[in-house]
Amino acid sequence: MFKRVLIANRGEIALRILRACHELDVEAVCVYSEADREAPYLRLADRAICIGPARAKDSYLNIPRLISAAEVADVDAIHPGYGFLAERADFAAICRDCKIEFIGPSPEAMAKLGDKVECKRTAKLAKVPIFPGSEGAIDDEDEAAKIAEEIGYPVIIKAAAGGGGRGMRVCRNEPALRTNLRAAGQEALAAFGNGAVFIEKFLEHARHVEVQVLGDKHGHAVHLWERDCSLQRRHQKVVEEAPGPGIERKKIGSVAEGAARLIKTAEYAGAATVEFLMDDKQNFYMLEVNTRVQVEHPVTEMITGVDIVKKSIQIAAGEEIGLRQKDIQVRGHSIECRINAEDPAKNFMPSAGKVETYEPAGGPGVRVDSHVVPGYRVPPNYDSMVGKLIVHADTREEALVRMARALREFRVGPIKTTMPLQLDLMLNSDFRKGGVDIHYLERLLKAQG
Ligand code: ADP
Repeated sequence: MFKRVLIANRGEIALRILRACHELDVEAVCVYSEADREAPYLRLADRAICIGPARAKDSYLNIPRLISAAEVADVDAIHPGYGFLAERADFAAICRDCKIEFIGPSPEAMAKLGDKVECKRTAKLAKVPIFPGSEGAIDDEDEAAKIAEEIGYPVIIKAAAGGGGRGMRVCRNEPALRTNLRAAGQEALAAFGNGAVFIEKFLEHARHVEVQVLGDKHGHAVHLWERDCSLQRRHQKVVEEAPGPGIERKKIGSVAEGAARLIKTAEYAGAATVEFLMDDKQNFYMLEVNTRVQVEHPVTEMITGVDIVKKSIQIAAGEEIGLRQKDIQVRGHSIECRINAEDPAKNFMPSAGKVETYEPAGGPGVRVDSHVVPGYRVPPNYDSMVGKLIVHADTREEALVRMARALREFRVGPIKTTMPLQLDLMLNSDFRKGGVDIHYLERLLKAQG
């Protein structure tokens, strides 16, 4: 096992990784920007190193500064968390060149699954269900029109190197496809430095269902079942749950086995998520693979009892997964609410500033992953997420009741958070029924004006 790990991140995930390190008897080195100087978790770190000014480009995204900090602190490994440098194959390669273990996949496996075209090709080999569409990148208008005719409109044009919901265009007929194809390529080149685009069938009504997988350096791979993350606003997940309500176990079991096969084919070591859209007949189509730990990993931890962050550190240190697929059983139901410092009553306006009141929920089946303490000042420079509230119960019905109870208990002020919206959702009859699609929340918010 490693002696010392540098955590190249901030906020709740930095604290989550620090806790995993300490449970493994590994020293945790935190880095921070000037904006995070007062962050409370720094006091729990074995060492904390300032890496630069608030701007992420000058601190959390600055590779030379992170590598210098890692060398000064003499760490064996770097955990990137999520966001920032987590999905940058060049960073993973630099770590390797500097003889620092990157806690995540090899740069080769990351590049293979991170590129959407390459990922689809690998998924096909592993017999993972994918969207019908072009075999690879496409730039010929006539060929694109022919494929679209075959799969039927609407289709979506996507950038091979796209991410964060950018670089996508939905086309409902041939003229739209022809106009958009060239523009999408140019836009992708400008935004991602890679102009390759492809087309696939566009699903109007779908649920977002993703599978958590783990692979190790010894050729083993397992899945930890699925999460339903359909409640989204502007492609950002608002509530996540596991397992997916109403999903036929046999069906998801075979899709999840495919997801494990996919990372095995890619010789992937570490935690990953294979994202799918699911239609109303429970057909699955792979969207993409996220080659890192996800914000919503706790719901999977709650239903399987597997500590995903600890596992990813152990895997990077060369240990085997040490879990047999048949032993990974779903127990009960878990829901997570992402607590963002935003005001849902004012069109989700960011609400940074000092947290005077902070009284987290507690009691049976409640978990709070947050770095906030009373007096903490939420810096305006980063993502607005200030924590996650997670519940676990025997059934979905009980988990909904428990989450509503915990949301009522949780007090944060005077900054505004998304919790009032999430409480409404826990009481919403459509959500309670289970199976709302990825546009449900946007429709609801629009209807409420
Ligand atoms: P990104 O990497 O930018 O997040 P994704 O491929 O994951 O891109 O797609 C982002 C979102 O766009 C999905 O969550 C879904 O809402 C929508 N989307 C993508 N592909 C399709 C599709 N084929 N049909 C319907 N919606 C899609």
